This record gives sequence, C-alpha cells and structure tokens, in this order.
Amino acid sequence: MANTDFPLIFERGKAGRTGYSFPEFDVPEMDLDNEFDRNYIRSDAPELPEVSELDIMRHYTALSRRNYGVDSGFYPLGSCTMKYNPKINEDAARLAGFSHIHPHQDPKTVQGAMEMMYDLQSGLSEITGMYDFSLQSAAGAQGEWSGLMMIRAFHEANGDYKRTKVIVPDSAHGTNPASVTVAGLDAVTVKTNEQGLVDLEDLKRVVDQETAALMLTNPNTLGLFETEIMKMAEIVHKAGGKLYYDGANLNAIMGYTRPGDMGFDVVHLNLHKTFTGPHGGGGPGSGPVGVTSEFAPFLPKPVLTKKDSLFVFDYDRPDSIGRIKPYYGNFGIYLRAYTYIRTMGAEGLKKVSEYAVLNANYLMRRLEQEYSLPYQQHCKHEFVLSGKKQKQLGVRTLDIAKRLLDYGYHPPTIYFPLNVEEAMMTEPTETESKETLDGFIDAMIQISDEAKNKPELVQEAPHNTVVKRMDETTAARKPILRYHK
Ligand SMILES: *Cc1c(COP(=O)(O)O)cnc(C)c1O
Repeated sequence: MANTDFPLIFERGKAGRTGYSFPEFDVPEMDLDNEFDRNYIRSDAPELPEVSELDIMRHYTALSRRNYGVDSGFYPLGSCTMKYNPKINEDAARLAGFSHIHPHQDPKTVQGAMEMMYDLQSGLSEITGMYDFSLQSAAGAQGEWSGLMMIRAFHEANGDYKRTKVIVPDSAHGTNPASVTVAGLDAVTVKTNEQGLVDLEDLKRVVDQETAALMLTNPNTLGLFETEIMKMAEIVHKAGGKLYYDGANLNAIMGYTRPGDMGFDVVHLNLHKTFTGPHGGGGPGSGPVGVTSEFAPFLPKPVLTKKDSLFVFDYDRPDSIGRIKPYYGNFGIYLRAYTYIRTMGAEGLKKVSEYAVLNANYLMRRLEQEYSLPYQQHCKHEFVLSGKKQKQLGVRTLDIAKRLLDYGYHPPTIYFPLNVEEAMMTEPTETESKETLDGFIDAMIQISDEAKNKPELVQEAPHNTVVKRMDETTAARKPILRYHK
C-alpha cells in the first residue's frame, strides 16, 4: 500500500497557506442588528488546517487508497453480492435528461423518466413472476418491512386480526426478524434440518391459525436451494398464511426459476446486489417490492401506472399502506439496474446465475480440503465454511478474516449464519475470473498452513494494513469520531 504513514492534513497546515479563492463578495454583509444573524454567527473562527490545493488533493487521494471496494479487489462478502458494477450504468445515471430533473416537476414533463421506471417495474415482475412492483423502498430491509405491512394489511382487511406470527428460519438474515418486529408482528423460529434446509416437520408444528406469513430466502443463507418449497407453500397457504420472499439471493436462480412460481405472494429484491447498484458503506440502496394481484391494492402509494398513453402517479389507493419514502425512491439506482437488465437481456441474466453458481461450487470444492464444510451438497451462489478445525489450533475465524486483509482480499461474511460454528459465508459472484478465485484459494490455503505452523501470525493479523487489529467492542461502544492531536 502506497505511503500509508503520511501526516494527517491537520498536522500539515502552515499559517497563511490557502488552496482556494472566493469570488468577489456580492451579497449583503452580516447584520449584527438582525437577531437571526446575531444568533448564527460563531464567536471564533474554526481551527482548520491551512493547506495548498495540492496538499488537500494528496490528502483525499491517500484516504481513498485506504478504502477497499469491488474496483480494488476480490470481495467475497457472502449474502451481499459484491459483483462488478458496470461503468455503462454510471453513464446512463448521469445523462442530463435524467440527472437534471426534479421530483416536483409536472409528471407530463418527465414522461421518459416515468417510462423507464414503469419498464423497470415490468421487467422485475417478469424476472420474479409477480403481478406488479413498487420501486419506492430504499433497501432490502425497508422492502421486508413494506411487504410485511402489506401482509398485515391484507389479513386485517379480511378481519383476520389474530394472524400476527411470522415464521422465520433460524438461519435467516438478521433483518428478517427485525422487520417482523418493526411491522408490529411476532417472529417465530423454524428449525433447519441436517441437510441445511427448513425442517418440514418443525414447519408443520409452528404453522397455525395465527400464522401471518412464512418469510424465506431461496436459496437460503447457507447457499442451499429449498427443494421442498412447493410443499412448504402448500402447508402455509392451507393454514391461511402467506409467503414472503427475501430476494437477496436472487443472483443464484435468475432466469431459471421465479419466486412467483414457487408460491411466494410478496417479494423484495435488492437492486444494489443482484442488479449491480454500487454498494458498501451503507448505500444508496433500492429494495423494490413485488406482489401477486391479490396484494396489489396494498402497494405503497403513489403507484406508477399507465393511463391511455400517459404515465401517471396514482394516489387514489384507499387500501395502500401509504407512502414509505419521500419522492419516488433512489432513482439513480433504478437507472443503473435498468441499464444492467437491458444490456444483459434475458439470456445474459440466465448466464449470471449459471456463472455465480459455478464459481461458488469451484471455490467450495477447493476450500473444503482445508476448511470444514458443514453441508456437503452442491451450493448455489454462495456457501458456508466453518473454521472449527482452525479454532482447535487456537486460530479463530475472526483471525482468518483479518489475515486475509494482509493478502489483499476482503474477507467473507463471518459468524453468520448463526447456526454454523465459526461460519465463513463466501460468495464469489459471477464476475470474477478463475485466476482471481485461484489467488483467493491460495491465500486461504496458506492461512490454513500458518494456523498449523505459525498461529501467532494469524492471531495478530493484520500486519500490513493502515489500521491494525481493533478493539471492536470499544470501537462500537465508544467510537472516537473527532480528530485529537
Ligand atoms: C442484504 C440482505 C438483506 C437486507 O438488505 P439491505 O438491502 O442490506 O437492507 C436481507 N436479507 C438477506 C439474505 C440479505 O443478504
């Protein structure tokens, strides 16, 4: 890594040095007789480093090099689908006709933007086998919540107030039970069996007249396809419950099967995962929600529809769960997803799933020779290894993850799902070459050797990153967010 010990910009300043020039002052001066001005004027000047333009440029460039992203290296963070973000998407998102419009504009003047959104809704409906989509929600988690609110509204519209339980597998992503709670419902756990799939007997045991829904991702968080999904749908539907699909793992099945065909009633997708929106660092996301026709009246409003030859936002939706996001959601991410879908085409999207699954299985079969693999069958787009062999040597999964940083790789998702000891959830995605996968395999094998021969090397990692091993508890509880000399 280049020049990691550069002095921080705060220590670099020299009194009187500047890197900016302001235009002539052409607004009224501060008026100290005016109460507003008086209240908002600060008493002393801020202590800012006085630096040249070149110094500040180097400061920010150096900081950017401390960062790690898909454009800098392999990023097998399971469940997050850190695939390549095609740069043509960025061109589309920056087209002046899209980037210079305003959400308060008269819809008649932004018909092209609305048509793009409408086409995206239709494309997502086709990909998932759903009847209609709302793009509004800003993340998968918000999609989950919106979908559950619709399911709740549906049951309440039928006078079915007792249906408050949502069944969630013990391997589920943490947002699933959290969304259930925020939607005012109660999460009930269903167990995973020895094959890593939902235990049907346990499902039959927990389903009852109070079941609002079963919430599931397929393939599940272990990267395994729930082969009994049709039976599960039947069990839940027979009891009057609905099926919610967490679409975060769509990258494994796109073009081959559809949640709509598996019996799901409400789904969300993560445009920033499957559909190449750049993410990491928390956003911007987009978590569109799709529904069967039965749920269409409950979609968030306004609903984008076509009347005659005009695209309109329909606010006249008495059963809608309401607006869930200001304006129309993260429009820039829609454009990226739309561009991706149109450039890939139906055949291209199918290939995505194929290669995602092929890459994951290649990685899994090579790595199971050094790391323990709790579920032996073929995986879909990701798999979960266990670091329990290494733990017996005193090297934890956290240590392995930190050591990977020394080799220049982002680690897999660790300690999730919770039902696998020392879990390493690994998702290579379809966009990585065999050479990149081989490089990662070599690093993982080397780390396994180090765990046997030089465990302290792994236990004390990382050694060549800017920030060394952190005290993560203190960092989370008492973060130091300001610069201190
Ligand atoms: C990422 C993810 C979510 C949450 O999606 P966000 O867009 O991060 O809110 C939910 N479930 C699974 C399985 C995920 O991987």
